[in-house]
Amino acid sequence: RTVYLNGEYVPENEAQVSIFDRGFLMADGVYEVTSVLGGKLIDFAGHAKRLERSLGELDIQKPAAFDDLLDIHRELVTRNDITDGMIYLQITRGAPDDRDFVYPDPETTKPTVVLFTQNKPGLADSPAAKVGIKVISIEDQRWARRDIKTVQLLYPSMAKMAAKAAGKDDAWMVEDGMVTEGSSNNAYIVKGNTIITRHLGNEILHGITRAAVLRFAREAQMTVEERSFTIAEAQEADEAFITSASTFVMPVVEIDDKQIGDGKPGSIAPRLREIYLDESRKVAI
Ligand code: PMP
Repeated sequence: RTVYLNGEYVPENEAQVSIFDRGFLMADGVYEVTSVLGGKLIDFAGHAKRLERSLGELDIQKPAAFDDLLDIHRELVTRNDITDGMIYLQITRGAPDDRDFVYPDPETTKPTVVLFTQNKPGLADSPAAKVGIKVISIEDQRWARRDIKTVQLLYPSMAKMAAKAAGKDDAWMVEDGMVTEGSSNNAYIVKGNTIITRHLGNEILHGITRAAVLRFAREAQMTVEERSFTIAEAQEADEAFITSASTFVMPVVEIDDKQIGDGKPGSIAPRLREIYLDESRKVAI
């Protein structure tokens, strides 16, 4: 694979980052994941906008390459011959001369910018989307600024491992009795013609896929309620699903060993998946 590091395209085994990089020492960095379908980027503008916001919230200066990010994404798609897959982008505060809690001077320490591709042939035809996934619930023990897409992913990894240990696919995190989101996705339930998903705030990541799916749901005359819900309410719902840039819309058919509906994907989640994929492909760049 060819990867991008600070202005250069290099083979992945030649890309080197300092051990003093604050991403490495302090998880002081942000990231984005953009899907590629048919060689085109899905919702690039949404990801770029959220990236800019994440950088701003952490006072990380926008790297010189910021305005070239679209070209860099496209260049990597071409060089690595990606038809379906993902592009991972990470920007950290950079590598000062020594470890220090105080932010380094942005005049001398420039952000580290890394992009690499992940090839996933048939990404949109995932077999899991046909049968749905099973989730467990777990206490949400992440920090309180989940609206910033930082690289501190240890707790979501622990949640995913707990799901794996239980023989399930993912975990829905719960805070004060209410579902926040999945380990790396937003969580939804469906009751009749109504889609329910947690309201935006600092407690969840503002999913780019979430914004698009809610827009498509409203356009398809579904009702959208942005409010929190409990695991018990989810278990009694007609359907449940998750969204993310890499899974699009994915039905959830079991929560904490309780089957949702008849244990098969219902009608709304698969329909939203289809609409999302169709519409997103149309405007992919
Ligand atoms: N919540 C969390 C915690 C995530 O990590 C992700 C995936 N990055 C999402 C939600 C979904 O966001 P998006 O639709 O922008 O991928």
